[in-house]
Amino acid sequence: MGVPPLSAADLVRRRSAARRRAPSAPAPNIPRTLVPEGHCRPEAAELDPLPPEQRPASEAHQQRLQRILDRLVQEGGSARMKRERPQVRLRPTIDYHFRTAYRNDLLQVLLSDVIQDCPDEVAQGLLEVVLASQYRRKVPEELWQRYLRYRRQPSIVKRAQVLFLARNRSITPVPKGKVFDLDEVFAALNLVYFDTQLPRPALAWTVRHARTTLGYYLEDFDIIVINSVLDRRGVPRFALEGVLYHEMLHKQQEGLPHRGGRRRHHPPSFQAAERRFLLFEPARKWCEDYWGAAD
Ligand SMILES: [Zn+2]
Repeated sequence: MGVPPLSAADLVRRRSAARRRAPSAPAPNIPRTLVPEGHCRPEAAELDPLPPEQRPASEAHQQRLQRILDRLVQEGGSARMKRERPQVRLRPTIDYHFRTAYRNDLLQVLLSDVIQDCPDEVAQGLLEVVLASQYRRKVPEELWQRYLRYRRQPSIVKRAQVLFLARNRSITPVPKGKVFDLDEVFAALNLVYFDTQLPRPALAWTVRHARTTLGYYLEDFDIIVINSVLDRRGVPRFALEGVLYHEMLHKQQEGLPHRGGRRRHHPPSFQAAERRFLLFEPARKWCEDYWGAAD
């Protein structure tokens, strides 16, 4: 059975709907999002605000950030920028660096409360990046790098990790699954392949059987998430080990210098290290067969 062809009116409707959804300005080279597409990205509805006593008091910080933003707009803003009176809104979220939205023709700059108490100069740099990307100006790369250096400090990554585990309902923060215990598998791999030198990240299972990936490592949260399809009887342990080992290599190689501004995800050195896993071939074959059968 074929799909009935779309009428011209349908196409116009679709296109204008797509236009409404499209962000007003792309940010060149600036990834606003922390969790890559297709990587079990939590939906807004799945973000669980912390109970009030754990919620950071953000009003004072929001006002502080607003004062910094007001100054930037006053000193260097275009007429359009001044008309749109950008407002800072701190959000209890973990999945973006920043986002922008319009409400009543006024620009809202949405920032995560993870970074709410950042130093003034970091906040100013980030807000300059936001304005530049929103109003199609040249993005000040060094300010973006300054922000990233702040965001990737161990204390901020730890805070982001705690909030990720608390707010993200698409994962379960308990490493012990129904069949496999990620803690135990991690410790064994760490002993055999890393001389127990790899610091333990947070280890979590997806709640549902994710359809896109068997596992991933999020550097900005120091967390390895494993697809719970691997937590079933009938899954050979070496298949889970192969996936976890791959993600552990990502953690080991985090912070490596970028080449040409972009880090290669699986450079030759990574692929060579991957083959040190003794059951690399059987594990890879099992994963390939699994996806092949799942299609
Ligand atoms: Zn990878």
